[in-house]
Amino acid sequence: MQHQPGPMQAVAAVPPPADFGIPTRARQDAIAWFDQIRGLLLSTGLPPEPAVYDVLWRYVRDDDHELSLAIDRAIAHDALTLATLMGLRETHLGQISEAQVNQLIAEAHDQAEALGRRIESGQTDLADYGKAIADGGERLAGPMDAASLGVLLEQLSQATSLVQAANARLIEELDQAAAESRSLADKLTQAERAAVTDALTGVLNRRGIMATIEKAQAEAVATGVPLALAVVDIDHFKRFNDRFGHAMGDDVLRFVAQHLSDRLEAHGGAVGRLGGEEFVGLLPGVSVQAAAGRIDRIRADLAAQVLRSAVDGSSMGRISFSAGVAEHRHPQGADQLIERADGALYTAKRLGRDRVVPDRG
Ligand code: GH3
Ligand code: MG
Ligand code: MG
Repeated sequence: MQHQPGPMQAVAAVPPPADFGIPTRARQDAIAWFDQIRGLLLSTGLPPEPAVYDVLWRYVRDDDHELSLAIDRAIAHDALTLATLMGLRETHLGQISEAQVNQLIAEAHDQAEALGRRIESGQTDLADYGKAIADGGERLAGPMDAASLGVLLEQLSQATSLVQAANARLIEELDQAAAESRSLADKLTQAERAAVTDALTGVLNRRGIMATIEKAQAEAVATGVPLALAVVDIDHFKRFNDRFGHAMGDDVLRFVAQHLSDRLEAHGGAVGRLGGEEFVGLLPGVSVQAAAGRIDRIRADLAAQVLRSAVDGSSMGRISFSAGVAEHRHPQGADQLIERADGALYTAKRLGRDRVVPDRG
């Protein structure tokens, strides 16, 4: 009977692992990040999916500090669920990836090059035509009989037809290039809008509202008018989700976003989703007291409505929100304004929710 190799021999038959040398610093870092991600997946129970890796990778590397802080907060509250993480991904990272932007830039680049080539070839055609006319002129200056004049005129006529055809082609190609440029410009506009829009609710995402707040702060300082900001947080939203399901929860987020923007944008205000069930309302030209009054009316309007399922009309009860309102104080930035409004929101929650509290600090 033939001798079967034992386990030792089988192992010895496998070539030794390649010697990668001492791991580089970058490799060590990446492995440490990977370990951290693994630990997070185990401790949170999050599914090991690419989208989850994507956010956690950014988190462990602290690529986006705001995102890291938000995840830290969620972990501290033991609330790092898949929904929360995906919500954070959307609000912090926007809808357009760097790869998509690069793709659009590459397209624009290709288009510009192609257009340059078309114009160049048009110029060559014209240069050839100019040369044919100049040659003809030279020949006309010398002695010429009727037969050679006929030949020359025929040649010039052919050159004219060629350049006319080339021109027609060029015009067609320029038209096409113009149409391509317009479509590219549209795509870029859409991409820019998507980068600052919250895909779920259609209001500004975190990036969009932060930029809007900063712009409004600069304007408030320049014009000397007040600027107020509200942080709005839906009350007991987790309970709503648990009772009616995540999809209904999403509908409520859309509903609240619309409720806020209908009532704030008409007055030059703006609405953004900070993340999860938390929104920001920006009220330019309004003091903290007046803003608190306005937000309170919006709150009462919402709390008075009974929500009904669009599917079967069944009642889902009422929902309310709590809000904290603060007024911009120069030279504080957007983060500090939100922080003060957030402090007042915390008080509103502590006092029993379904109310608006102005920052008194
Ligand atoms: P509180 O009144 O103290 O604000 O209680 P809450 O339940 O509203 O707050 P908590 O922070 O405990 O829970 C927020 C919930 O929001 C938990 C999470 O599942 C839910 N949530 C976050 N983002 C989304 C989302 O995009 N869609 C849905 N449906 N739910 C979300
Ligand atoms: Mg809430
Ligand atoms: Mg919240």
